Amino acid sequence: MLTADHIVHTTCPYCGVGCQVDLHVKDGLIFRVDGRFDNDVNHGNLCVKGRFGYDFVHAPDRLTRPLLRDREGAFNCASWDEALDLVAGRLGHIRDQYGPDSIAVLTSAKCTNEENYLLQKFARAVIGTNNVDHCARL
Ligand code: SF4
Repeated sequence: MLTADHIVHTTCPYCGVGCQVDLHVKDGLIFRVDGRFDNDVNHGNLCVKGRFGYDFVHAPDRLTRPLLRDREGAFNCASWDEALDLVAGRLGHIRDQYGPDSIAVLTSAKCTNEENYLLQKFARAVIGTNNVDHCARL
């Protein structure tokens, strides 16, 4: 039986329920996931995604850095500062030229509730639009 080098207490990344998990890590690899009992969200329970869906963490083709597309259509690695400056500049340009309601923000059930809150705040307070939607709104 494997013994973890360390256990990481974190939040399941799959949906907004926010189940609390322990990631058992050995040699830098997650090999087991347990639900935590010390919280009021999941009381130790996890659905199948939360318990077994962690292959993506170590996938060799996982995106770990921003990519910027050049004029020929090729993707090139960029720093976070470069990528964020580009996006901020483009969004500011669109807002100034076409108005705040020309932009919409779509959030995700894979974000935490706190991240979804921040995205709607960004839309309303920074962009100036109420065009906010979420993939779970049906
Ligand atoms: S374990 Fe399942 S229900 Fe809980 S946060 Fe993850 S995906 Fe959502």
